[in-house]
Amino acid sequence: MRYAFPPPPVIALPIAGSEVRFPVRRIFCVGRNYAAHAREMGGDPDREPPFFFTKPRDAVVEDGAEIPYPPLTRALHHEAELVVAIGHGGFAIPEERALEHVFGYAAGIDLTRRDLQRALRAKGRPWDWAKAFDRSAPVGPIRTAKEIGHPSRGRITLAVDGEVRQDQDLADMIWRVPEIVALLSRAVRIAPGDLVFTGTPAGVGPLAPGDRVTARIEGVGSCTIRILAGGEG
Ligand code: MN
Repeated sequence: MRYAFPPPPVIALPIAGSEVRFPVRRIFCVGRNYAAHAREMGGDPDREPPFFFTKPRDAVVEDGAEIPYPPLTRALHHEAELVVAIGHGGFAIPEERALEHVFGYAAGIDLTRRDLQRALRAKGRPWDWAKAFDRSAPVGPIRTAKEIGHPSRGRITLAVDGEVRQDQDLADMIWRVPEIVALLSRAVRIAPGDLVFTGTPAGVGPLAPGDRVTARIEGVGSCTIRILAGGEG
């Protein structure tokens, strides 16, 4: 096969303790999965069905990435999240079998142009531009479920220059991983390489150029990024 120009590169994440990398297919994200965060966003923390949004696969950056402050915002926010890495595809997966489809887990940061999100929401427009921008999906090394099991509790924190801003427990998630995978797979067929950001706890807030940002999940790992001055595209 010849192409008009070189095809886009495979986007892949390191797997802790392995030379093999995890090739990324799609990125799904759950909105509002911790009651305290739902409240701080002005929403209802009741157990409504979770909603999903997506980011493009090439929004993924690795642990250690330097991220220029993005355009179209003056309120770039951090959201620490447990990221589920899918290893086996399927459609309409029953909740009891959902964990069989999980390859592993990582700590991730759902970077968000919060001011833009609020403006879009107020106009009833799609969120894409607030969530799906370049380098908006930092993800740490993936730990396999074979190695760490399926964490349902454990401290999830986010620190900016060492100061902890988000600090909750995976046990506080409204929708658990098996429920999320089952529900997602009823909407679209999931496939190996999919990543699912599972929502953020309370304490989201703004980042500035120069900030060093670390999301950490007990028993899973961490992801550190540095925010640079903007304008580099
Ligand atoms: Mn999020």
